[in-house]
Amino acid sequence: MLCVFVLCSLSLMLFAGMCVAGNGSYKVVTKHTNLVFNSVEDMVLFSDAINYPTNSSFRRFFSSPSAQDVERELIKKVDLLFAKVQLILDMRKKMKSVRVRVFSNSDQLHLAYWKIFNHKCEVRAWYLFEFNTVFLNVTDVHEGILAHELGHAIINHYLTVRPPRATAEILARYVDKHLFEKVRQY
Ligand SMILES: [Zn+2]
Repeated sequence: MLCVFVLCSLSLMLFAGMCVAGNGSYKVVTKHTNLVFNSVEDMVLFSDAINYPTNSSFRRFFSSPSAQDVERELIKKVDLLFAKVQLILDMRKKMKSVRVRVFSNSDQLHLAYWKIFNHKCEVRAWYLFEFNTVFLNVTDVHEGILAHELGHAIINHYLTVRPPRATAEILARYVDKHLFEKVRQY
């Protein structure tokens, strides 16, 4: 769950090569995020992979929910997860929706990484501040990975000055480690 940041100038130079979502993508808009999938099937797989909160899944009650049911449930799950990450960090400020680009497999994810950074991908997921986008793939994701990457987005937008990478990583790791614990109030 390492995360990568690049200089703004480098990102802007490579922006033209980043239209990987294409017109055929499947988008889901939640209160805090814009989720972009390659297909409705990927959306269902993603929803299955995000187990948050643990007892909320429609799958526990219905053997074959419709795609609309799954999408509604996914919206709830992602926004609850986002709110929990804000609560853990004690960083609750209105911010622009975070884009979450969900690829179908690791090859697609690695290709996207290559197009941005021009070197081999050695991370499972990452958040890129310049695009305000989380990148991950549906075959290797769970609620902890999503929470971690959303944590990076929240940290970078809450603080007036973006923290050093090491500091941001410590905070984001704290988020995924304590995702299911009761939050201590200060
Ligand atoms: Zn990270």
